[in-house]
Amino acid sequence: MPDMKQATDHLQPIDLPCQIGLYYPGRQGRVGVQDTPENPIIRAERLRLRRWLSTNIDIQWNKHVKSINHNDQGVQVFFQDGSSAKGDILVGADGINSVVREQLLQTPSSALLKTVPLAAIIGEVTLHGDAFKRQLELGHSAYIYVAPDLGCWMFGGLHHALPDGVSGKHYWMLMKPDPTVADPNHWLQTATQQEKLDYALALVAKLPPKFREIYEATPASGIKQESHVWRDLELESLPAGRVVLLGDAAHAMTPFRGEGGYNALIDSMKLAKILAGVDGSDIDAIKKAVEEYNKEMLERGVEAVRASRGEQSAQKTKSANAKVMSAGQEARVLPEREIVLTARG
Ligand SMILES: Cc1cc2nc3c(=O)[nH]c(=O)nc-3n(C[C@H](O)[C@H](O)[C@H](O)COP(=O)(O)OP(=O)(O)OC[C@H]3O[C@@H](n4cnc5c(N)ncnc54)[C@H](O)[C@@H]3O)c2cc1C
Repeated sequence: MPDMKQATDHLQPIDLPCQIGLYYPGRQGRVGVQDTPENPIIRAERLRLRRWLSTNIDIQWNKHVKSINHNDQGVQVFFQDGSSAKGDILVGADGINSVVREQLLQTPSSALLKTVPLAAIIGEVTLHGDAFKRQLELGHSAYIYVAPDLGCWMFGGLHHALPDGVSGKHYWMLMKPDPTVADPNHWLQTATQQEKLDYALALVAKLPPKFREIYEATPASGIKQESHVWRDLELESLPAGRVVLLGDAAHAMTPFRGEGGYNALIDSMKLAKILAGVDGSDIDAIKKAVEEYNKEMLERGVEAVRASRGEQSAQKTKSANAKVMSAGQEARVLPEREIVLTARG
């Protein structure tokens, strides 16, 4: 495999460490986490990560799982295009709305996923030169600003830097507690991009200019059209057999601690290790291995789901000295520094 960090780094070609800035009430200045040799953080750009994960794998695209059949003798998967495949083990890594999970548990996703009572408006914008530099200064990779006085909190993130070295694609999420967010008549279900942008601009109007800038730079066309409802998933147990779940299929969580993809990677490494050497025809050995995997994976997953759900609401009540976590690390004071960008030819 190519080096993961180099191949997936969202800041490439800019030579800055991954850094997440946290601006929380009651704290002077900024705390945050930063990639260091002692405490490494890899912040991967999604497409680059997918390319890296595909190394030496002959992927068959557009195979949409429709249904599965499984028993102690084997497992068979049926795809939407009419084809099917047989095997010893099926790993359902098909995300929050997992069909494999629905089939395994014989329960629809709607009965298992919990709505997170948080309304969100999401925007995307490409920034150049000084505007780009100012976003990097708030947090090279991302930043969170919690504004309890305005009843909202915001996430600003760099999707990826552009090859010219002086521009980057950014995204932001502006969030407000809202128990009615999943209501089919909620205003965000039908609001236009311009209406959502106007609402966001009115909400952030009282913020210091440096935190308003990204909203003011976003055109209406950069606002996500569909309304977004956060959902998460806590499973108590899973049957141990030839069908296994990992990642969001097993423990979907809100992204507020940046742990969903991280836990999906841990799941896949633990599962690979546990299954290596197990005879595919020995159902007792498979059940024992999968039971061991499920136990650890669900305990770790549920803990991350709960911590992620509680993260932003906890910030409002946390004392100024309370421990703050991000990307698996404890936040520390991060002095703000001016960044100098160099254009590449
Ligand atoms: C805005 C946002 C920010 C995030 N930030 C972070 C972060 O900073 N750090 C972090 O660790 N995590 C983060 N996450 C979470 C992370 O993206 C997920 O936890 C991770 O992608 C889960 O991986 P997965 O492989 O389980 O599922 P997914 O990435 O959802 O992949 C599932 C795949 O299965 C495919 N699929 C679905 N149904 C079928 C079917 N029936 N048949 C065949 N294929 C199917 C889908 O097309 C998809 O390719 C974030 C999530 C969001 C939404």
